[in-house]
Amino acid sequence: MRLRHKPWAKQFIEEHPEYVMTSSSKTKTSWKELFGNDNPIYVEVGTGKGKFLDNMSQEYPNINFIGIEKSESVLVMGLQRLLKDHKSNVRFINGDVLDLLDFFQPGEVDRLFINFTDPWPKKRHEKRRLTYKSFLSLYEQIMSDNAEIHMKTDNQGLFEYSLESMSRYGMTLKNISLDLHNSEKEDNIMTEYEEKFSQKGQRIFRLESYFSS
Ligand code: SAM
Repeated sequence: MRLRHKPWAKQFIEEHPEYVMTSSSKTKTSWKELFGNDNPIYVEVGTGKGKFLDNMSQEYPNINFIGIEKSESVLVMGLQRLLKDHKSNVRFINGDVLDLLDFFQPGEVDRLFINFTDPWPKKRHEKRRLTYKSFLSLYEQIMSDNAEIHMKTDNQGLFEYSLESMSRYGMTLKNISLDLHNSEKEDNIMTEYEEKFSQKGQRIFRLESYFSS
């Protein structure tokens, strides 16, 4: 996400630990305790400005949403929206997906979204793709039994890679769409990048998967 660097963002984020967890504000308290209820927990990795979670939280008030984003300058925009709307079912983590285990306990996550993540097309960058096997292993550790991963992308190469990577990992794949916006799925909630790409006429790919027990 190309965006002007905001030198004030880090401090602004640190001043709002009630909405954004960081490596310095993280606690051992479970997310259910932090949200104050037993509702399912859905996570988006690489959430950007959190627009998708904002729309989802409105549509599904009985689900708790957490967005993980490493860029302060991007995340701060989601935080500013949250401070205006005071949504009780949305929180952010300012951190790297690599450090997921620092922020979640085993089995804590009921669904994980990977939306329009960076494709890292060069073979030598394969390990950075958020569907590389080491990331799948992290997701598996924090997800509850039969919890699903839902992925959307405009990038055919990343999509094909992810199908293979998940399948090789032993995951079960379902509801695969090679053209989401011309499919029968009616309850799609668009992400910020999805809106941009679909306005340009780009095809959107989508999959659902879960770790087979
Ligand atoms: N999911 C949003 C959407 O669909 O509109 C944003 C997509 S944007 C292309 C990808 C975002 O993922 C960027 O803001 C980037 O900083 C973030 N990101 C990429 N790798 C990450 C990682 N390892 N940990 C945390 N955030 C990451």
